[in-house]
Amino acid sequence: MEKIKVKNTIVEMDGDEMTRIMWKQVKEKLLLPYLDMTTEYYDLGIEKRDETDDQITIDAANAIKKHGVGVKCATITPNADRVKEYNLKKQWKSPNGTIRGLLNGTVFRTPIIAKNIIPFVKTWKKPITIGRHAYGDVYKNQEIRVEGPGTAKLVFVADDGTTTEKVIHEFEGPGIIQGIHNTDYSILSFAKSCFTYAYDQKIDMWFSAKDTISKTYDAEFRDIFQKEYEDNWEGKFKEAGISYFYTLIDDVAARIVKSEGGMLWACKNYDGDVMSDFLASGFGSLALMTSVLVSPDGLFEYEAAHGTVQKHYYKYLKGEKTSTNAMALIFAWTGALKKRGELDGTPDVVDFCNKLEQAAITTIESGIMTGDLIIVAEKNENNRKVNTDEFIDAIKEALEKKL
Ligand code: NAP
Ligand code: MG
Repeated sequence: MEKIKVKNTIVEMDGDEMTRIMWKQVKEKLLLPYLDMTTEYYDLGIEKRDETDDQITIDAANAIKKHGVGVKCATITPNADRVKEYNLKKQWKSPNGTIRGLLNGTVFRTPIIAKNIIPFVKTWKKPITIGRHAYGDVYKNQEIRVEGPGTAKLVFVADDGTTTEKVIHEFEGPGIIQGIHNTDYSILSFAKSCFTYAYDQKIDMWFSAKDTISKTYDAEFRDIFQKEYEDNWEGKFKEAGISYFYTLIDDVAARIVKSEGGMLWACKNYDGDVMSDFLASGFGSLALMTSVLVSPDGLFEYEAAHGTVQKHYYKYLKGEKTSTNAMALIFAWTGALKKRGELDGTPDVVDFCNKLEQAAITTIESGIMTGDLIIVAEKNENNRKVNTDEFIDAIKEALEKKL
């Protein structure tokens, strides 16, 4: 078979541990034999980040700005243990955080659906996508531990010298204080990314916050979304037969478990962090959750939602076979390649990716799956737990049949 040409460059960001091992296998077995593709390679493995003082992460983000599409493996966000383990110069920041900051994007997470992986929530029939604001709030906070009585104030000093001041609390004893922020610019980018995504996918969009309690902060999110909707999307949404509404986060939490799914749920940063793991587990496995960072100026970065699967990697290092699921990594690649195909006008690339995705889902539906899925799959005598390599080989076999 002649290889399918991928016209333009994809930015490839390698990562750490078990996902790094699978990354290589996915490329060698499922992509390179069929695709003639050029990637600009950045090694975001922890050693290389340490060696380059994390410059390589910034370079990778800038490369996405240049080429438009990137695909990223999971990476270690170092904590104190990791600093010791890898003898690092310092606790480097989360690469995902750095890239999100530079691309100013919103992260969309969608579960992969297979017929025999039954969601824990009985009513869920269609995937629920989370759109997570990726800037500010508690992720860019300042905190103070108060040791005794005193007054905590919120103070803003404008560039012209005028100050605005509010008392947060009169402490009578020890306690804690936290300051958070967001910007209209970032919230508007978030809103634009979400409306673009929902319209692109032709799905309803729900947005939630807590404006009854947070009457300035969360209300600002609500109002910016509403204005953006009325100014730029209302007509298009009506034409496409999709809807937008805002409601309280607790209201959505209650409604979502009674829904059929099939919508985009736009979440503030912390809400999205919590709810995307809730949805991933609810739909079956963290390894069936895809993730894409979309910037308001049309840049795309695809990845798996899970981490580097550290525990499996330590087994792998001891020479043991692991049963780690490569689904989300495969879908990161197909997501990036499909987007490349769309932007380049090369439908054969898109077609190949659809076939690869179908092959992967068919493999699971035929009963061949990794350990994380065996425990949540519908019981069937054909179900067989396979190791990492066997799973990828089975997908390859299914793919060959489709080509
Ligand atoms: P994790 O890698 O997501 O793994 C947590 C557990 O979930 C695993 O131990 C495993 O459960 C299960 N799991 C996750 N992915 C799986 C897969 N593909 N196949 C089978 N099982 C899977 O999270 P972690 O262990 O907390 O974090 C490890 C490292 O990843 C950390 O250094 C963290 O900084 C990094 N991380 C990176 C990203 C990212 O780059 N996007 C995201 C999160 C975390 P069992 O052990 O029960 O089999
Ligand atoms: Mg999280």
